[in-house]
Amino acid sequence: MTKSEKNKPRGPGTKLVSAGRGPADQHGFVNTPVYHGSTVLYANADDLFANRIKYSYGRRSSPTIDALTGAMNELEGAHGTVITPSGLSATTTALLSVARTGCHILVTDSVYHPTRHFCDTVLKRMGVETSYYDPLIGADIRGLIQDNTVAVFTESPGSLTFEMQDIPAIAKAAHAGGALVLVDNTWATPHFFKPLEHGADMSIQAGTKYVSGHADVLIGTISANEAAWPRLRETHGAMGLVAGPDDIFLALRGLRTMGVRLKQHEESGLAVARWLQSRPEVERVAHPALESDAGHAIWKRDFSGASGLFGVELKPVPDAKLRAFLDALELFGMGYSWGGFESLVVPADMRYRLLPSSFKGPLLRLHIGLEDIDDLISDLEGGFAAMA
Ligand SMILES: *Cc1c(COP(=O)(O)O)cnc(C)c1O
Repeated sequence: MTKSEKNKPRGPGTKLVSAGRGPADQHGFVNTPVYHGSTVLYANADDLFANRIKYSYGRRSSPTIDALTGAMNELEGAHGTVITPSGLSATTTALLSVARTGCHILVTDSVYHPTRHFCDTVLKRMGVETSYYDPLIGADIRGLIQDNTVAVFTESPGSLTFEMQDIPAIAKAAHAGGALVLVDNTWATPHFFKPLEHGADMSIQAGTKYVSGHADVLIGTISANEAAWPRLRETHGAMGLVAGPDDIFLALRGLRTMGVRLKQHEESGLAVARWLQSRPEVERVAHPALESDAGHAIWKRDFSGASGLFGVELKPVPDAKLRAFLDALELFGMGYSWGGFESLVVPADMRYRLLPSSFKGPLLRLHIGLEDIDDLISDLEGGFAAMA
């Protein structure tokens, strides 16, 4: 904790800069250094037999790990945080911490596809039943909760289709039915949405995306409230999950600038989204911060900002023309992941959805990076020209 935090409440940007830092413990250096280490030495036999030591083993913790978990606890308003080697291992570890043979979990149909794959393979083999619910369900989720339902896994807005979910209503219904609520909060980050303050029990980050922010790290975090923390900590420790200290350092470095980066992703994302809405080739833009979006009211009520990732539905167009559009883009790279400084585009693969979608034409997912807005718009203009 820095001096300032002891005295006054501070704004969200200030918290991103100061959370988890303790220069006094690091000889005054601003950043907590990278501790590479497995073995930690005990001072004497008494300490060894009593296991009296702050850090007992590199897998369990280190000052580098504490710096990131401490920062995330503060930002998410959590009782405890664990770090995992990827965002996917964060969603799977969170699910494993609540699952047991014979139980049932509810997962949004708009979930990040690899999370769905984990439920349909590993959890299924363990005897865990998964049902997928409509992301717009809200309080009606009460009707889907069974005696053996242990958790509702949400993601808001959803992957690829960007539906907003009413997390407070879902949490109220889930808790009444004895189930915990897990939120994959990667899109908003705790800077723009704090799930635990809205009734959720765990908030998950693919830190790979905006936290790291530079397309150079894979890392995940799970932050839990007091009720969910013991099982989460036990599961994470039992599985031996650990992220490399250099990657943790890069995630911490990313966190310090995440506020200004997100502000630009938000501004540029909205500018490009509005421009796309004016294009004759575009059927619909799925972006919850647009007033026209079906999820706008929930976004406005619960979130304090928007990141730079959204969907664009084109009017039906032959496959060859869609390829011509994509191939003509120079600034939008074609590739997976997002949250870095660079703009990206991928087609949305909807084959795995169970519930019918309202999208008819090709759906693209755009990530708006930190390039100049005019350049991005002119790049997309070039794409549309090649498509014509
Ligand atoms: C990317 C992503 C993940 C997985 O993160 P990785 O670090 O790539 O494993 C999980 N959830 C969401 C919503 C994501 O976009």
